[in-house]
Amino acid sequence: MKYVFLGGAGEVGASCLLLSIGKKNILIDAGVRVNERGTASLPDLKMLKEIAPTLDAIFISHAHADHIGALPLVHQMFPHTQIYATLPTQRLATVMLGDAVRVQELTEDTLFHQEAVDKALWRMETAEIGVWHSPWDDFRFQFHASGHVLGAVSIFLETPEGRFLYSGDVSAFNQNTIDGIRDISFFNPDFMWCEATYGADNHPSRSEEEKRLGTTVAEVIEGGGSVLIPSFALGRAQEIILILKKMQAAKAIPKFPVITDGLVNAICGIYEALPPHLSPKLQNYVINSRQPIFHTDNVRKAKPGERESILKDETPKCIIASSGMLTGGASVFYASGLASDARHAIFLSGYQDAESPGRRLQELKSGDTLQLGDTAIEVKCRVERFRLSAHSDQQQLINMIRQANPKALAFVHADPKTAEKLRARLYKKYLMYSPINGQTEDGTERPLWLPPEKKVQPVPEASLDFEVALGDGKTLHIPDEIVDMERWQTFASGDHTAQLKGKQLVITQQEHKQ
Ligand SMILES: [Zn+2]
Ligand SMILES: [Zn+2]
Repeated sequence: MKYVFLGGAGEVGASCLLLSIGKKNILIDAGVRVNERGTASLPDLKMLKEIAPTLDAIFISHAHADHIGALPLVHQMFPHTQIYATLPTQRLATVMLGDAVRVQELTEDTLFHQEAVDKALWRMETAEIGVWHSPWDDFRFQFHASGHVLGAVSIFLETPEGRFLYSGDVSAFNQNTIDGIRDISFFNPDFMWCEATYGADNHPSRSEEEKRLGTTVAEVIEGGGSVLIPSFALGRAQEIILILKKMQAAKAIPKFPVITDGLVNAICGIYEALPPHLSPKLQNYVINSRQPIFHTDNVRKAKPGERESILKDETPKCIIASSGMLTGGASVFYASGLASDARHAIFLSGYQDAESPGRRLQELKSGDTLQLGDTAIEVKCRVERFRLSAHSDQQQLINMIRQANPKALAFVHADPKTAEKLRARLYKKYLMYSPINGQTEDGTERPLWLPPEKKVQPVPEASLDFEVALGDGKTLHIPDEIVDMERWQTFASGDHTAQLKGKQLVITQQEHKQ
């Protein structure tokens, strides 16, 4: 098996992995860099054509633009290649790619038109989650729900050259809309490509962060101001609506008007149309209440042409609008109207790319100027950031990797420093690679990374080679490679006695007295 990242290695964006297994070429994801325009946003499609004169299958892990945004172009290059995705991903792709066309047509960097989107989606075959599918002899694949957003999956491949796992974007914890990734310990791949977006550290407590968001929004509204939450249309916006509704239903915060605007609304409709893919809790709600999930009671959609009057109306309210990084769409319009008034607030809720207006807003001081579209605005409103990520954090990624127990793995979908921090936690246990965009790696040559007789030992049995001097006040030095081991750290936290038995030093952990 040979693989090359045409995008998405050492970066969050333009995810695109080409696998060559025997005579077959397989592409996983075809995304764009969301903060770039035109050809700079694309994975290396020229290289794709050079390496792969034909493609045998395309798999799409989920409908975020960084995984699907270049699909219409890839389909133009390989019009006869079957594209596989889950049903929700197919439905969401219709909306996401349709929106991409609208945005592109407003600029001069048009990459494709609606016709190309329609043709690509026509080639898309939906595959059920949790079932093996075999598009040709000697090969089968399985989609495995990965949390993250509706329809997102990890992809298992069984091939004559080994078992491979592409994690896709993963969330280990249960969100309000969908459950986290299920157990993957049954698969044990030979090679795993693992996302590492938040591999550097751990998230704050999700429930605390949700409470903080709800109470802070309520606080601004009580003070007579309105709150804008710029939000990613797919996934994050639906979470935020449910967080507010949940707290209002529990009377933890008062009911106030919530208005959603932009691409958010179309995506809410797709979530509501696919209850079997939602969390069991939400499925129960749908069955028992027979009401829409998102837009009921005090939560409503903005009507077409209503934006001006929503801003003019002085009633304090919470507006949830895409895009999440203030790069365009409804959120830019509302931010321009609210930012210069100290009564109001803008709450950022997710990843802000280094070059995005959202990141600049996050770093501004009150009174600084922010460029939003064509206008420069003096920012006086309250600005805060909430960490409501839909990605696993460092510990959750480590737990998942332990469960999968791959023979070798590579971290992708992260900036190189972040991936490095995660590698540092695992390098003693796993054989790890740092793929670089455009660099072909050979994963087939088993002896290179895994001679069958020399399996990677999870944790080597400690046989220490050092000298111990006996006598009072002598210090025993344990070599660094042992001290760094997680197993030693757990052990070292208790009370111990050490005893020399012949040549062996026996360290025993004392029983805790009750
Ligand atoms: Zn994603
Ligand atoms: Zn992604």
